[in-house]
Amino acid sequence: MLKLDINEIIANKAKKKPVTAFAVERLLFTPSSPNTDAIPTIFAFPNEYSVGITSLGYQVVWATLAMRSDIQVSRLFTDIHEQLPRSPELLGFSVSWELDYVNILNLLESLEVPIRATDRADTHPLVFGGGPVLTANPEPFADFFDVILLGDGENLLGNFIEAYKEVRTADRKIQLKHLAQVPGVYIPSLYQVTYHDTSGPIQSIQPVSSDVPQQVEKQTYRGNTLSTSSVVTEKAAWENIYMVEVVRSCPEMCRFCLASYLTLPFRTASVEGSLIPAIERGLQVTNRLGLLGASVTQHPDFETLLDYLSQPQYDHIRLSIASVRTNTVTVQLAQTLAKRDTRSLTIAVESGSERLRQIINKKLNQDEIIQAAVNAKMGGLSGLKLYGMVGIPSEEPDDVEQTVALMRSLKQAAPGLHLTLGCSTFVPKAHTPFQWFGVNPQAEKRLVQLQKQLKPKAIDFRPESYNWSVIQALLSRGDRRLSQLLELTRHYGDSLGSYRRAFKQLRGQLPDLDFYVHTNWSTEQILPWSHLQGPLPQATLIKHFSEGR
Ligand code: SF4
Repeated sequence: MLKLDINEIIANKAKKKPVTAFAVERLLFTPSSPNTDAIPTIFAFPNEYSVGITSLGYQVVWATLAMRSDIQVSRLFTDIHEQLPRSPELLGFSVSWELDYVNILNLLESLEVPIRATDRADTHPLVFGGGPVLTANPEPFADFFDVILLGDGENLLGNFIEAYKEVRTADRKIQLKHLAQVPGVYIPSLYQVTYHDTSGPIQSIQPVSSDVPQQVEKQTYRGNTLSTSSVVTEKAAWENIYMVEVVRSCPEMCRFCLASYLTLPFRTASVEGSLIPAIERGLQVTNRLGLLGASVTQHPDFETLLDYLSQPQYDHIRLSIASVRTNTVTVQLAQTLAKRDTRSLTIAVESGSERLRQIINKKLNQDEIIQAAVNAKMGGLSGLKLYGMVGIPSEEPDDVEQTVALMRSLKQAAPGLHLTLGCSTFVPKAHTPFQWFGVNPQAEKRLVQLQKQLKPKAIDFRPESYNWSVIQALLSRGDRRLSQLLELTRHYGDSLGSYRRAFKQLRGQLPDLDFYVHTNWSTEQILPWSHLQGPLPQATLIKHFSEGR
């Protein structure tokens, strides 16, 4: 067991902030009193409290742990923490943003836990992680974790803890082998990765022994009660918001879309059985409600939910909807939102080019986009934000021109509606059919092209940084060789220049940046996540990939 007083270490090393944030939380669950032999656990979010507590995933996992009497859990953020156990046995991280790896490594160091799993001894806690970033492609971060939980936490978290209890007093090697038997529990150190050469593609990924599963299957929860906030607080980044997950995944399956492909199948919470009772519970402590999910308005009973929220007794609530499919923007939806303190709506159109929308499987035509703008205006909204993307595979400059033309048509069809185009660069994501495509270096120019043409038309253009897209692509297609690069980069800063500098320093020891980011990969190639089974088999992804060519 650790002989260190972790509270002291953190207090000395982390910047101090008053711990008032915990005092003003309103809990929507009842924590249990831990048993005397409860497992001392730290559950961390590798960012500040205001960010972490706004993550529904973090809230739900923390509440699940806090409701168990066999776990004694303390929360840790980069700025504040609860009283931490002296000798934690489990140290968990919920990871929702790639660049937070820097904070994970810093927190490990603060706790005097070696940052690499292979350097940890029996006296150190088992470091586990979960969340969307690690479920998509954990490989660049794999060497930092003893255990990674892949997929939905609902059943997986409990199964992991029960399995841990069976080997609680065993040595670390036995613990890890035992945990590897639990579906969805991935133990990176139990898989050996070999490469064709140090800077070439992967040659094989094999379990280290025959009692370790060949593949780890991402877990899918199939119940009809989805997540809801377990805490509401004024200190959250979305102040006092009560969040309700309305749907999980998206049935549209746009070929690049991680939010759809990684979490399939599309699941919906029951409106009468779970959503409405949950909303009523939440509205007893706040008047701010967030409806979350990749495709909220595609809930088959969305209208019932909307009718319910349109009742006069809810006139005082502030309502935010995470995502609205373009062809579901009705006048009623816009009116309800306008009355509930929302002024503008966001829809994702991806491109003004019909041809490209077909390639990415975005089942949306020009008329539907224009109708959405007209309905938004008629319903009383003052703005409409569209999301687009450049660098979509096979994109030509003319396709970008068509995005400009679309924005012009929208301006004519809904005069007075404030239009914004947010635009990112296509980034390949693991477990999607477009995982084999690289980032198109022309995308940077195309963002400039859009900027030049839209500015004079008084359309607000908000491009996402191209350099940031390159870093995202590196991490989303990275393999384990990147861990040494990440260790270097965190000391250099988070700009693309820092990554380039680290690549230069490690030349010959791993492939170059182009290999990870810009190269189109062969479908024959062994992917860094080939041993981690997502919702769809590889053959289906290849079929969808071919349809998009
Ligand atoms: S509609 Fe949106 S959430 Fe659904 S698959 Fe397409 S991009 Fe993803």
